Amino acid sequence: MGFDGLTGQDSVKKRLLDIVSSGGGARSLLFEGPEGVGKHLFAKETAKAFLCMDPGPDGACGKCASCKYIEAGTHPDLIEVEPTEGRKNIRVADLRAVMQDAEIKPQISERKVLIINADRTENVCQNLMLKSLEEPSSHLIYILLCSDTSRIIPTVMSRVTEIPFREYEENEMIAILKENGGEDLDDGRLSFLSTFSSKIPGKAIKLMSDPDFMDEREHIFDLIMNMPRMGYTDILYDEFQYFDRNHDKTAELLLLLVWTLGDIASAIAVPDPGNIKNSDKKEQVMDFVSHNPSVTLVNICNAQEAVSDFADASHVNATFEVNCCNMLLRIYKELHHEKNS
Ligand SMILES: [Zn+2]
Repeated sequence: MGFDGLTGQDSVKKRLLDIVSSGGGARSLLFEGPEGVGKHLFAKETAKAFLCMDPGPDGACGKCASCKYIEAGTHPDLIEVEPTEGRKNIRVADLRAVMQDAEIKPQISERKVLIINADRTENVCQNLMLKSLEEPSSHLIYILLCSDTSRIIPTVMSRVTEIPFREYEENEMIAILKENGGEDLDDGRLSFLSTFSSKIPGKAIKLMSDPDFMDEREHIFDLIMNMPRMGYTDILYDEFQYFDRNHDKTAELLLLLVWTLGDIASAIAVPDPGNIKNSDKKEQVMDFVSHNPSVTLVNICNAQEAVSDFADASHVNATFEVNCCNMLLRIYKELHHEKNS
């Protein structure tokens, strides 16, 4: 097992293995990348490797007492620092107490690892860590997790070894989704989830396990596909009601609208487009284009503009009902087969 058990981020794995096996060297690490990219998972594996009693070339052995404790979440030498419940940020007093405790010799392993959610630290906490980050006690390893290094004071940044996480490959994303409950979904749908979540595994896994999201996605896709055959009542009553009911998900719905319209544009532009975002529904998109030859790229552009106008209007707090109906009617006008313009 060890790092081999984690999919993707090969350069990160290699650097971490070098650091773990060198023993000395960098003891204050900062994992950097967007939320959901896998920083926490890799931090746990790094801690496991540092604390393991019989580490191999791939990191932790997975069998020793230390590894077992980590898997059970009960290792006394692995300390994770997060804000206490109900708080946005880590309290200075809490961090100070944890850091003092960390100075005491480890109980089971030869080291102690502190994983700190640096996104939830204010400057005062970061200042508190300065001295320890620069010269941690010989048994201490710091791993800071951070999605935005501009929020970290430069004096902290200059004391840590940065480990940047890169974007995942499409096949890695599909493998990760399959490992996390998506084994029964076809690759097209997994690839859609991967693209929609900007190739961030945590986001994609969350969307995959959210039945509402999958329903919304089907609804918006079907709305556009069926629009040429719909009547005004469908649009102004049923569809408006749908948007109204899902008011809090407007941003997501609008993105799905833009994507589906974009897929039609791709299919109009080239006979066999390779960049369909609804990749599991490519056939339906192609069918739409062949059955609605009167829909042109200009219509699709206008429809997309209607969506972005609605998005802009939502920011200025204009009436939701008027703006939403206006958007739906503008798209309808562009896609309906009896369009008179
Ligand atoms: Zn072990």
